[in-house]
Amino acid sequence: MAASQQTTGAFSAEKLDAVRKRYTEEANKRLQAERLTHFIQLTQTDEKRLRELVEDPWADHDALNRKESPIKENGVYKHFVLGAGFGGIQYAVRLIEDGLASADEIRLLDAAGGFGGTWYWNRFPGLHCDVESYVYLPLLEETGYIPKKKYAPGHEIRAHAEHIAAKWNLENKTLFRTDVEEIVWNDRTEYWTIRVKQNRGPYQPTVKITFNAHYVYLAAGVLTKPQIPDIPGVLSFSGSMFHTARWNYKATGGSQEDQILSKLNGKRVAVVGTAATAIGVIPEVAKYAAELYVVQRTPAYVKRRDQRPTDLGEFETKVARKIGWQYERQINLNKYLTNSAAPGEENLVGDGWTDMPAYSAVLGSPGHGLEDASPEALVAHVDKFHALDLPHMEAVRARVADTVKDSETAEKLKPWFPSWCKRPTFSDTYLETFNRPNVHLLDTDGKGPSKITKSGIVVGEQEYPVDIIIFGTGYQPPSSGLGSPAARTNVKIYGRCGESLNDKWLSNGAATFHGYATHGFPNLFFTGMNQATITGNNVFMLGLIAGHVAYSISQAEHRVGPNKRAIVEATKEAEEYHTSEVLRRSAFYAPSVGCTPGYFNGYGEGSRITNSEEKLKRARGVPWSEGTVSFLEYIQSWRNEGSLKGLSITSAA
Ligand code: FAD
Ligand code: NDP
Repeated sequence: MAASQQTTGAFSAEKLDAVRKRYTEEANKRLQAERLTHFIQLTQTDEKRLRELVEDPWADHDALNRKESPIKENGVYKHFVLGAGFGGIQYAVRLIEDGLASADEIRLLDAAGGFGGTWYWNRFPGLHCDVESYVYLPLLEETGYIPKKKYAPGHEIRAHAEHIAAKWNLENKTLFRTDVEEIVWNDRTEYWTIRVKQNRGPYQPTVKITFNAHYVYLAAGVLTKPQIPDIPGVLSFSGSMFHTARWNYKATGGSQEDQILSKLNGKRVAVVGTAATAIGVIPEVAKYAAELYVVQRTPAYVKRRDQRPTDLGEFETKVARKIGWQYERQINLNKYLTNSAAPGEENLVGDGWTDMPAYSAVLGSPGHGLEDASPEALVAHVDKFHALDLPHMEAVRARVADTVKDSETAEKLKPWFPSWCKRPTFSDTYLETFNRPNVHLLDTDGKGPSKITKSGIVVGEQEYPVDIIIFGTGYQPPSSGLGSPAARTNVKIYGRCGESLNDKWLSNGAATFHGYATHGFPNLFFTGMNQATITGNNVFMLGLIAGHVAYSISQAEHRVGPNKRAIVEATKEAEEYHTSEVLRRSAFYAPSVGCTPGYFNGYGEGSRITNSEEKLKRARGVPWSEGTVSFLEYIQSWRNEGSLKGLSITSAA
């Protein structure tokens, strides 16, 4: 049971046991907390004040209203992409680059008022990509763009999305401020019919449009529906409150570009949440607010970001050193994330992502695969990850103690869970912020605040008067609706014979071919990690799925020949085979059982569900457990086989 001295480095087996006991206590404390899963979904609430918190603050309605709609009532389009973030943009670029479509044959659509998805909506101060910008920003070689810093700020990433859209002529092909409500397969015409609703700004009537598409691509993201905790009294608060996904610069002063939050001078501010978003926000707010209260339910683990400007000479000689450098670098990062780098293989990125070997417990690893899922083997597997993780998490905790001067505060900021339970966070300023006299940590010991009043926030019995409450409390978890692509988009999707995609997922769990298509829903492609792959670098994953989809369609079109429309559908057998391949590797994820709750595990959903059938449904949705490079090899071997086995390809006029 206990790990050996050897695998825990300098730490004894007793130390590891003690740490694991603490992890269990901290997880249980949270799992038992009364309001763990009480959230208000802001896009779905009927409460006007809360609903307004997710209105688009950024759209230039006048300019957008002057533009001609690229999507017309009863229009018929060859390629329809839902989502204009990096997922949707990469679908469009791949279709064009692979010769499947001209920009004229593509239509994109987004609820946002511009390109960028995540990077359109999120403009909070302190926002940067958390993986290196040279691997995160897509299409750097094709655009020739050189990020200005190792970790690009949010506005630069958004500008890059706009730049890509302009280069591939997608600007006039994209309908913004529009929600897709329904996507329905027409068995007779063999087209998809899409019903959407456009918001044209204040005092303008909404416009409904119905149109048709041959191929539909769902690139609607996973972290798009902001939520706030359902804290009693939240509506009684008389001050200003907002969610970080719609930063209110009117309340704070400044803008995404200058970030001088001058209106916070003299104000008392509470930030609720202490994960990736809050870690960016808190140091910036602390510079301006008179008093800042940081309301913590679970401490994040915070690693050094080590931000620095891009040195152009170094970029040209060491980063962009040859054609194909970006893909090589992305793959190299993935190998380091999944413990599959060859001995002596150069670590090209070499940052805080690549020194945490046990994080592969959530990303998958061929090196730590699990061939024999006997109970003994499972225990050994979990032990191995804990032993691998201990030196890393001890260093993370030691950094807190070294940085935060007040030892009581430092103790409360130490994370007591293994690295794989939450996404790591990176900051050179977060922990230091707690040394400022105006910053106060309100640790709620896993419970969250007990109440919000007209004038403040209550932790335990103590009320803290504040003028502004900022919620950095995340999004509806991607596992909602068992990760069904329809639930993730909030769209009703009906396939052949009116079958509902949500019902298909809810009745049996995920069922896909290579994570991108499902039987009964022809010519519908989606992106996501379920039954596909998960990486630290999401945009890379989105690009590789887009490439795989484009490959499949191009082969199908080649088969049916010119002047006919290909109808591409995963067969039932193929999706069950793929599901079984995913499932038989799923025990790999055993270390995640017992994790502290968070959006990774649907706030501890696994420990609440005891019914074995329900557990199996969830297990079907896990990603490929041997890591991204292995997943790429798996789909490549399918391509090499050349018969498009598993896809039914027919033609329509
Ligand atoms: P999104 O960018 O979320 O775009 C999806 C779009 O679909 C949205 O604009 C949404 O409005 C639209 N949409 C959804 N449903 C509908 C509908 N029904 N009708 C109309 N439109 C709809 N990942 C990393 O790897 N590194 C990072 O540093 C990183 N930082 C992040 C920072 C934040 C604040 C957040 C929230 C996420 C971050 N991520 C990061 C994850 C990030 O979401 C992905 O990296 C990536 O940008 C997602 O792209 P996407 O196109 O799949 O989804
Ligand atoms: P998360 O879901 O990761 O975090 C939400 C935070 O709110 C947690 O600290 C959570 O605590 C806290 N919370 C929830 N309910 C309560 C409550 N009742 N009282 C107090 N606190 C509460 O959302 P984020 O927006 O921070 O991040 C989501 C993801 O977006 C990240 O994992 C990352 O993938 C991405 N991201 C990346 C960034 C970057 O640096 N590039 C920046 C921002 C986000 P608890 O842990 O206890 O649930």
